[in-house]
Order: sequence, then C-alpha cells, then structure tokens
Amino acid sequence: MTEQNLNLVDEVKRRRTFAIISHPDAGKTTLTEKFLLYGGAIREAGSVKSRKSQKHAVSDWMEIEKQRGISVASSVLQFEYNNFCINILDTPGHQDFSEDTYRTLMAADSAVMVIDSAKGVEDQTKKLFHVCKMRGIPIFTFINKMDRQGKDPFELLEDIENVLGIRSCPVNWPIGSGKDFKGVFNRHKNQIELFDDGNHGQSIANSITGEVSDEKFNTLLGDALHNKLLEDIELLDIAGDNFDLEKILSGELTPVFFGSALTNFGVEPFLESFLEITPPPTPRSSNLGDIDPNSNNFSGFIFKIQANMDKNHRDRIAFLRICSGKFEKGMSVTHVQRNKKIKLSQPQQFVAQDRVIIDSAYPGDIIGIHDPGIFNIGDTLSEKQSNLQYTGIPQFAPEHFARISTKNALKRKQFVKGLTQLSEEGAIQIFKEPNFGMEELIVGVVGVLQFEVLEYRLKQEYGVDIIMNPLPYRYIRWIEHGSVKSDRISMPMDTILVEDKNRTQAVLLQNEWSIRHLVERNEGIVLKETSL
Ligand code: GDP
Repeated sequence: MTEQNLNLVDEVKRRRTFAIISHPDAGKTTLTEKFLLYGGAIREAGSVKSRKSQKHAVSDWMEIEKQRGISVASSVLQFEYNNFCINILDTPGHQDFSEDTYRTLMAADSAVMVIDSAKGVEDQTKKLFHVCKMRGIPIFTFINKMDRQGKDPFELLEDIENVLGIRSCPVNWPIGSGKDFKGVFNRHKNQIELFDDGNHGQSIANSITGEVSDEKFNTLLGDALHNKLLEDIELLDIAGDNFDLEKILSGELTPVFFGSALTNFGVEPFLESFLEITPPPTPRSSNLGDIDPNSNNFSGFIFKIQANMDKNHRDRIAFLRICSGKFEKGMSVTHVQRNKKIKLSQPQQFVAQDRVIIDSAYPGDIIGIHDPGIFNIGDTLSEKQSNLQYTGIPQFAPEHFARISTKNALKRKQFVKGLTQLSEEGAIQIFKEPNFGMEELIVGVVGVLQFEVLEYRLKQEYGVDIIMNPLPYRYIRWIEHGSVKSDRISMPMDTILVEDKNRTQAVLLQNEWSIRHLVERNEGIVLKETSL
C-alpha cells in the first residue's frame, strides 16, 4: 500500500459522521455544545451563539437569512475528540423543519436520538427515527434532563420499544433523578460514575468512579440511593435486551444512555461509548456496487443545496458528503449527472462555528461547494470513475399541500420555470393533476416554512406573484408502477390522483383511514411512502 493510501485508511478510521435527532427542546443544541466543550472546540459552554436566537417568527426568517447571506454555519460541525474526527450534521427543528432535515440523514452514518426524560418519545423524533430506520443505520439514545423530575427509566425504555418498535439495551443507568441525580452506573465498565456540578455545566464535570461495592458510595450516595441502584442493576438484566453489536450496527437495537446535557452529567461516558461503538464511514451503494471509502477514487454525493437569499439568484452552496478517496482543493471531477468536468476550487468546511476554505478532506467529511445552479439533490461527483452514481436520495412524503397559480397570466413562463427549478433543487415538490395544465400545480412540503420560502423566492428570483390555496391533504402514497392498472384506480372519497415531476402516480389523502380504504378497493396495489 502506498503512503498516501495508508494516510487515507487512517483518516477514514478516525472519522465519525452522525446526526442528532430530537423533538424541539429535548436538548439537542445543549448536547451538541457539550460535545464541543469536551472536544476542546469551545472553552466554555454558552459560547456557541444560542440557537434560540434562531427560534423566531417565520416573518423574521427571511430577514435573518438575508443578513447572514447563507445560513450554513450551523448545518455541519467538525471537531476533534480523543483523536476522533467528528462531523455532526444538524437537523433543524421548529418551523425550520423541512424535507432537508430528512435528506441530511442520508449523509449520516449513525444517529443520536435525544429524548426528554419527562416527555418520552415525541412526534418529531418519531418521524426522524423512521427515516434512520429505513436506512438501517445505528441509532443511539440519550435520555436527557435527568436532573429534572421525569418518567421512571424503566417506563422510558418501554416507551421507546412500544412507540418506535426498536429493542433497547441500557449501557448506562441513572443514579437518582431530579435534584438527587448523582451520576450513572456504567454497565460496560461495571462502575459507578458520580459527577460534580461545580459551575452549572459551564465546564467539564469532575467525576468520581469506582466499583459498585466500593464502600465510599455508601457515604456518597446514602443508603437509599445505593440500595435502589443495586436493585435496579438486578432488574436491568431482565428489562433490556443484551448488548449485541451486530444488532446495534444494523439498527435493530438501540443502546440507551441517561444523563443531563445541561449539567454535563453522563455526557462524557456517553461520548466515549458512542464513539467506540459507532462505525467509521462504511461502503456506500452505487450503480457500480458498494464503493469502499478507502478506494483511491475521490467521490461523493450532494444531499443538500442551500440557496442564497441574494437577489442574484441561483448562487448557492451544495453540500457534498465524501464517500471515498481523498479530496484535494482545486481537484477536477466529473459531475456525473451532466457528464461534465468541473474544478472544485473554493471548497468550504464547517469547523466548530466557522466556515473555512480547506485544502483536503476525507470520507465522512462534508464539504460545501459553490453551485452556480448546476447541481441537483442526489448528484454524484467522481474523480476517476466518470459513470459512478450513488443510489439516489428519495423524495420524502410531504405533509402539507397547496394549489398554486400565478397572479399574472403573462408571467406563466417564469412561474413554470421557477417552480421547476425550485423543485429540482429540492426546495419543494410539485404535482400535476391529470386534467390540469402546468399553470395550476399542487405543491407539497414537509414543513410549512417551505411554502413561505417558495412564495418569497418566486417573487425575488423570478418576479412572480402567486396565489396559494391550502389543501386538506396530509398524506401522500406513491403507487408502484404496474401494481394496478393506472386508468382503473378506484379512489376513495376526498382523495385525488396526481403525478410527480417524474410522472410517477401518487394519491393525496386526508387521513390514514383513506389509505386503508384505497388498499381495500384496489387489489394488488402497492403504495410507497417515499419515491426514488
Ligand atoms: P433543542 O431545541 O433540542 O436544541 O433544545 P435546547 O438544547 O435548546 O434545550 C431546550 C431547553 O432545555 C433549554 O432551555 C435548555 O437549557 C434546557 N435543557 C437542555 N438540556 C437540559 C438538561 O439536561 N436539563 C435541564 N434541566 N434542562 C436542559
């Protein structure tokens, strides 16, 4: 093996690329910040510009985006910890929630699911979990806010299994809760780890560790807590599944950790175990079979395109997940979908809180490349194999729909062009009803903010004012081609048949009941929640 290749193998081995998924307010931002604190990327917690300032009314959003130019700083974070090179992918919550959030998960090798101990599994967590499950990536659970009175830990495990349908194995276990939360029992190391909240989580928490039977814990914990822990440890063997690495790696079993991101209790034990268990970049599937990250051909795919809100439109940043080979600044690569050579001259990486121009990057890393409007979601870039195409990123099911048309009939051309381009970019999905022309289309989105962005961008970038009428549909199911004769589909009441931009047929429905009804009325029909 050449020296260069050895370097590549070592760099791949120490990469960990993951997304943190949660329902808003469960503590994702706080946990991310604590990771940075432990990684030494920030000195004091609270110094990362609060994401709270980004939790704003929809109307402020455009202004903020405009002022910031491009809001990429918080999309990906890279930092080092114990010689691991970590890439965290941000999955926005609140109104920012969009199809982008799902697509970001396509670039992750694993996911950390943060759950609020008082609330258990919540809606948004469920949706994001579903996408991770579909990909079969490992999912780690961090049950947060143990410093507050929450649900019983055993109940929380049950909640995860019942609501999400995934088996769980606690790796550490909380000692006390609420005001009495003292630390965790690390089942891996078979030791107690107590923490000291000297300065309210601003800096790394000191810990005292030792065997369960160590007498000092009688005094440190008091009899009641110590005995409770001993009982829990006995119960644990029946409560969760056994630790099984293979099942964890295939996403069938989630290792569970308890802690409090705010006070740093349990954060470091979690980070250590997580980094040990979660895999480095693994081979990715493509039209040429699985591609080994250690191959000497640089390649990757685009999973997100961030539009600049600048009026000089179509000036954007494309986020590329590197899948194989070493990236070097100025490199010439083939943009496979267009079969064109392009030069990657000003690549950006997102380190801690800054964007910097980089010289090199490795599989697992995310780089931002300037996009003069040539890339689409899912495109492959490849240095040597010019016919390599990574398996595409699916269209995820929108949950909100509206019928839109242009206010001014003379602007019809720009209207169609704008919508087509924005849907190619992945900002929205468009659907056509069989008997309608292109001047009246149905737009589908995952998060309602996408509607506002659409309206804004059509006006700013294409000079088109639109009329938007919300529709009552909440579900879409794509019909597998050939599973039923397309002109014979029997539709339940209050549903409509549409075609997506690839002319694949789909049905828009108002409730789950209609989905069942559709299946009953059409023998053999195969419905899908995503479309490639
Ligand atoms: P996100 O919306 O998931 O990113 O959540 P944040 O990290 O912004 O946290 C939401 C709120 O919960 C903030 O007020 C945090 O200070 C608080 N919080 C986060 N972690 C903890 C924790 O471990 N304990 C307590 N008591 N509060 C926490």
